[in-house]
Amino acid sequence: MDLVDWWYGLLGLSIPKAVIYTLIVTHATIVSVTIYLHRHMAHRALELSPGLSFFFRTWLWLTTGMSTKQWTAVHRKHHATTETEDDPHSPQVHGLKEIFWKGTEYYRAGCTPEELEKYGKGTPDDWWERHVFTPHSFWGIATMATVDILLFGSVGIVIWAVQMLWIPVLAAGVINGVCHAVGYRNFETPDAATNVVHWGILIGGEELHNNHHTYPNSAKFSVKPWEFDMGWFWIRLFSVFGLAKARSTGPVVARERGKVQIDMDTVWGALNDRFRVMSQYAESVVAPLARLEVRSADAATKRILRRAKSVLCREEMLVGERERRDIKAILESSPILKTIYEKRLELNAVWAKRGGSREDLLKAFKDWCVEAENTGIQALRDFVTELKSYTMPLGRATA
Ligand SMILES: [Zn+2]
Ligand SMILES: [Zn+2]
Repeated sequence: MDLVDWWYGLLGLSIPKAVIYTLIVTHATIVSVTIYLHRHMAHRALELSPGLSFFFRTWLWLTTGMSTKQWTAVHRKHHATTETEDDPHSPQVHGLKEIFWKGTEYYRAGCTPEELEKYGKGTPDDWWERHVFTPHSFWGIATMATVDILLFGSVGIVIWAVQMLWIPVLAAGVINGVCHAVGYRNFETPDAATNVVHWGILIGGEELHNNHHTYPNSAKFSVKPWEFDMGWFWIRLFSVFGLAKARSTGPVVARERGKVQIDMDTVWGALNDRFRVMSQYAESVVAPLARLEVRSADAATKRILRRAKSVLCREEMLVGERERRDIKAILESSPILKTIYEKRLELNAVWAKRGGSREDLLKAFKDWCVEAENTGIQALRDFVTELKSYTMPLGRATA
């Protein structure tokens, strides 16, 4: 082999082919992170065959050098402490720029040794983990560099560099930073998590981060019919070959049309689906009443009332000074919007009782429904009728 051959490597790929190769291998890394580390290890949302698990572990060792236990522990801690001082990587606490550019550093410093044991439970502790993957993380990425240079020569150095940067930029930077700062929200979770785009392809579906924080144990990240989750596409494909099996794809809940009695199953069903229930409240109660109020308001009030649905239904921690002023003005100008705003806060307070006794929870839920019906507001009455239709699937009854 002469110098020219070394320049192009054993395969001598053209630049377009090298780009396609790079996109395939970086996508494999993203799939390994989202399916193996995130959905399988950290959240136990799906089962994986031992062979596929081992492939993902090996691939992550070759392309990232990340430790399964460290990643899992930091991520579980993130869910347990989201947007607080203890959150390992909150842009709300540390600033978006800081998390975007130094995401990997925040990951490394994310857990104390005690937290690593606490949050890292259930991660692999076999011969490969103890003797290869964890102690020799450098050799994984060095092996990948050697393979890239042998196959593609000088271009291989660029391919390897892109592979090494892919996760620090896209996973640590975009998911941990941008996905808690910029984008849209389907659900008012008690954090700042956002969906960045409707189609999660580049980062394997992780773009749908608001959906994920709403249903963290679901193997599927897309919720709306127009959303696409690339990770879920792969899980479905692996399932066809018996290599993967989803444990959960959303809240355990059922609906029974015409049901009027409120029992413990109604409460559990509605509670499990509370984020969708609250988004339904925004769409079917707040939005139509706000539109009606806009029609009869003067020009100055109209401008504020148009923001009513957005500000009255926002998660409390995301309400800034300007929104607080708008809420005050809306409530002063419209008694009916004041009532439905207060009823919304009261319904949130019902969900907050879920850690207490069943009797208290059932009573609070029933009281809320009676008071909502007694307001005489038709949209609220219809909403209560919807709430009453909730129940638990057969075999999952809790009463
Ligand atoms: Zn998050
Ligand atoms: Zn997660």
